[in-house]
Amino acid sequence: MKADALALGVIMLVGGLGLALWAEEQADSVTRIVYPEEYDNYKSLALIGYLVGALGAGIAVYEFASNPAKPSPRSPAILTSTPTGQKTFCSYCGAGFRPIDVRCPACGRKVLRE
Ligand SMILES: [Zn+2]
Repeated sequence: MKADALALGVIMLVGGLGLALWAEEQADSVTRIVYPEEYDNYKSLALIGYLVGALGAGIAVYEFASNPAKPSPRSPAILTSTPTGQKTFCSYCGAGFRPIDVRCPACGRKVLRE
């Protein structure tokens, strides 16, 4: 859900700015004196594009700031075995475990045995 909101924000940012730039270009191509309605329409469209882009940027920044890449410290690490089955490694930080370890010696996450 978080990643979807972040993607939505980025899409709104890129799409909104793209729309705004396109509409600005269209407004520049029509002469304001001769086609005042078209000019105003394109300028309004550009404004909407900027607003959507700004909203998208806000969503993206908010989601990015409130959704750090690191999982919460309470999320357990999962042991993964090497092909030889001799050693196990933390699924989060990759540190090696001893079979008796309850917590990862490197990142401190609780070990969840599969
Ligand atoms: Zn670890």
